[in-house]
Amino acid sequence: MESSWYFLRYCCPDHHDAPLDRKQVDHWMPVDQYVGGVEHAVLHLLYARFFHKALRDVGEAGCDEPFTRLLTQGMVRKDTHRCPQHGWRYPHETREEEGCLLCADCGAPIEIGRNEKMSKSKHNVVDPNEIIQGYGADTARLFMLFASPPEMDLEWSDSGVDGAWRFLGRVWRLVHLIGERTAGVAPASVMPADANARALRAKTHATIDKVTRDMARFQFNTAISAVMELINAGSVFVNAPEEGASADEVAALLRELAETAVLLLHPFVPHITEELWAEALGMTTRLSQAAWPVVDPAALVKEELTVVVQINGKLRARILVPADATQAAQEALALEDPNVMLHLTGKSVRKLVTIPGRLINIVASA
Ligand SMILES: [Zn+2]
Repeated sequence: MESSWYFLRYCCPDHHDAPLDRKQVDHWMPVDQYVGGVEHAVLHLLYARFFHKALRDVGEAGCDEPFTRLLTQGMVRKDTHRCPQHGWRYPHETREEEGCLLCADCGAPIEIGRNEKMSKSKHNVVDPNEIIQGYGADTARLFMLFASPPEMDLEWSDSGVDGAWRFLGRVWRLVHLIGERTAGVAPASVMPADANARALRAKTHATIDKVTRDMARFQFNTAISAVMELINAGSVFVNAPEEGASADEVAALLRELAETAVLLLHPFVPHITEELWAEALGMTTRLSQAAWPVVDPAALVKEELTVVVQINGKLRARILVPADATQAAQEALALEDPNVMLHLTGKSVRKLVTIPGRLINIVASA
């Protein structure tokens, strides 16, 4: 019963004269986002709505519905281990011998069962304290957010936990390396002239754009994967900076990349990023109070477009044209393409049907 209206009481915890303070309830309600497993979607969600509507009818709440949006999150699953004599076994009740998993008590071979919803009765639960002790809370968070979209079931995997931990190690080393090389350097704020340097800044801003959009859709796994790509790009660049860019430009670009990566990872792994922000990047303000990074639209402009070239409706080439090329310039490039020229041999061009930046159809006849 209490779980069906606690969110109303949370609006006014200091109100002592009555269960609810209507003014506070109307200020905070409805709840913006309800997150729960599938068992909540048919039970708690139903009860809570009935209670809320009754409280509305007696004048304790103003809004009709208590919750605006629902996210039904998946279950955490893990494989099960069973001994013929001792039944379900925890991992610490088994031992490995020559690649075989045996019961620690009787030595019988363990039957490895399918992935099932974690439950104490099947002994396939993971104690979060063990993960936190071994790897830290950030690794546990990153693994779970990265392993699957939140509405899907999550399969617990020790190698996945290890992978999350190794990724955080790479972030740690890269941000420290960049921090040492760029002390006092301001992050890049304009597009450099050199092509590889431009590509790196485009990657930084495309990542901000993707992570921002993915966060709004609760697609944390793809957001994290985008930051992983950015860290890869940064690791390559830091070891072989482009010769066409000046040392100052390289430092500013790396600084921008490191600050951006730390900002974007902060919601997922708050502890390590807060420490990197202060210790490696030398910031004196708290990361949790820093603004979310903003996309520079100039960095997202595609500099070349792919145009499909057809002859009499048949695909003959895909050409790259500068994004700002005129229609006439795009058509000239299409007619110069070797494969297009080959297929036009012995034919004369009657007309061109062009959708600039996308498609050029050459109408030709013998
Ligand atoms: Zn046994």
